Amino acid sequence: MGGHHAISGAAAWLALTGSATIGDRALGAGVLDLTGPEVLAGTVVATGAALLPDIDHPSATIARSAGAVSRLASSAISSATGHRGATHTLLAVAVFTALGAVVAGLGWSFRVPVVGPVQIGAVVVVAVLCAFAVRALKLVSGALRPWLIGIGAGLLVGVAAPATSVWLPAAIGLGALVHLLGDLVTTDGIPFPTWPLVLKPSERSSSPLWQADGDVAVPILGNAGSAREWALCAVLSLYVAVAAVATILP
Ligand SMILES: [Zn+2]
Repeated sequence: MGGHHAISGAAAWLALTGSATIGDRALGAGVLDLTGPEVLAGTVVATGAALLPDIDHPSATIARSAGAVSRLASSAISSATGHRGATHTLLAVAVFTALGAVVAGLGWSFRVPVVGPVQIGAVVVVAVLCAFAVRALKLVSGALRPWLIGIGAGLLVGVAAPATSVWLPAAIGLGALVHLLGDLVTTDGIPFPTWPLVLKPSERSSSPLWQADGDVAVPILGNAGSAREWALCAVLSLYVAVAAVATILP
């Protein structure tokens, strides 16, 4: 479920990189030593990136985010790889992360009046992933509004968190990785971790944990959309709300 993947990406990012506190209790581990705006920008990116693997599913939120363009792209990927195929692998996480690093490293900038130079690649990536996140979390309705919010967020990030070389690829990689973990804990599971090198169990030893086609699962949440999944999602949503507000407040 798109919204659940999105919120888990946000929660994982805030838990790892957040450094806000309530009283003397830290709300995140503070790895990467990021500023508040960078933590928040990364939260937006990780939220959207946690939807990326489902680009192989034509009816997923992300595939319907950009009209005919994303639907066609999704159909093509889906027929090439199947659902929960190549885009649900550690290799894909590495590719998404590398693309983020390339975009952040290009350093193309343009001058915005009043604001000054803004990194164009980072702004576009943040805008797209933010639009995905806004749609998946159903924060606004309509086809256009998520994109307007995305573009606004992209420009804001371009100004407030301009040094993108670390947090941007890190947030993309973490978001995509958390998607894989989310699918791993459901009954369907994900492809064997070393995909495309797939180890299949012998006929007798195949099980729900290591399936005949090599897929692996640790189905502690049961089927996608289970009551357990909703409960976990509610806890994560509460944590994200508290941690994000604590990061914003001085
Ligand atoms: Zn998935």
